Amino acid sequence: MVCIYCGGNTRVTNSRAAASSKQVWRRRHCSNCGETFSTFERPDYLGSLVVKQLNGQLEPFSRDNLFISVYESCKHRLSALNDSEALTNTIVSRLMSKTDQGVIERSRIIEVTAKILKRFDKAAAVHYLAYHKV
Ligand SMILES: [Zn+2]
Repeated sequence: MVCIYCGGNTRVTNSRAAASSKQVWRRRHCSNCGETFSTFERPDYLGSLVVKQLNGQLEPFSRDNLFISVYESCKHRLSALNDSEALTNTIVSRLMSKTDQGVIERSRIIEVTAKILKRFDKAAAVHYLAYHKV
């Protein structure tokens, strides 16, 4: 990665796995201007996870789509936005841990999402399943 200040070459001076260990924090030093900055490396879900639709077609996984469907199901809650963000993170990490070579069945996403919603808020799970058939 090049320097964010001058575009010069940088080298990693420090590296650490972040809390979830699915992220890596790096400290970089620019050999040109001498500045130092940090980067975060994390999985590219869009690029690494593929969803197998019911008709067998493969589509890139969209965290945004998942978030929207979770949010729609949690709208009755005052804290819908924060809840949906946290729930989406939980669902994505569950999906990532169980994926077989980056391919995941659409029905599996629905199952996992419904299960996690049910534990959190039964009404949200009912709403979700009304719009997502396994
Ligand atoms: Zn620089």
